[in-house]
Amino acid sequence: MSLSEQECVACGDKVLYLATDGRCDGCVAQGHGWWTTKEVADYLGVKLGTVSAYHHRGEMPRAEERFGRTYVWRPRTITEWNENRPRRRHKA
Ligand SMILES: [Zn+2]
Repeated sequence: MSLSEQECVACGDKVLYLATDGRCDGCVAQGHGWWTTKEVADYLGVKLGTVSAYHHRGEMPRAEERFGRTYVWRPRTITEWNENRPRRRHKA
């Protein structure tokens, strides 16, 4: 038996397989613990590249953790920032 259980960074469950950001499948599916760039993009309703551009230009909170090449944020960091940032409305 070469596999060992690892602890999910979000829920603390011990599982055999973790996503690259250190979460178990269940937490990834439910967006628990961390949001990756993809989940931030989904929340904001923009493309992945837009989030990367925001991050690169310092127009959004800095990523709080990094797992390999994956930047992650706490959901609340993003939701609070989004609620407080100036709106650019394209639709009435
Ligand atoms: Zn988990």
